[in-house]
Amino acid sequence: MYRTKQRHAILAVLSGNSSHPTAEQVYCRIRRQIPHISLATVYRNLKRLAEEGLILELSFPDEPNHYDPCTELHYHFRCDLCGWIYDLESSQVQIAHRLSSQGFSVRGQQAVFYGACASCQTK
Ligand SMILES: [Zn+2]
Ligand SMILES: [Zn+2]
Repeated sequence: MYRTKQRHAILAVLSGNSSHPTAEQVYCRIRRQIPHISLATVYRNLKRLAEEGLILELSFPDEPNHYDPCTELHYHFRCDLCGWIYDLESSQVQIAHRLSSQGFSVRGQQAVFYGACASCQTK
């Protein structure tokens, strides 16, 4: 029961959350509800949820993974200055459909654009 509760709490934190939090950021939010939970437990649950396809795991060089409740295919833009990860509109779903029709099995995708976001450039 306790494990199910942890899993639900983690999914609730991520649900509708477009900030692409790291395991540590999820951990900080979860601790308000489940004070005795460990970072390792949060990390393990996030890994499992990603394996089950319920969330996306985004990996970047030289930094911890980020987690995304939006499991539809989409591109990301990562700002070099503030580190914020933006969701991008894309026609990538069409690419996946085309690959499927050619007999490819698409398991996931990862494409990230880098640079400085609009709000950082006006500072
Ligand atoms: Zn920025
Ligand atoms: Zn995203």
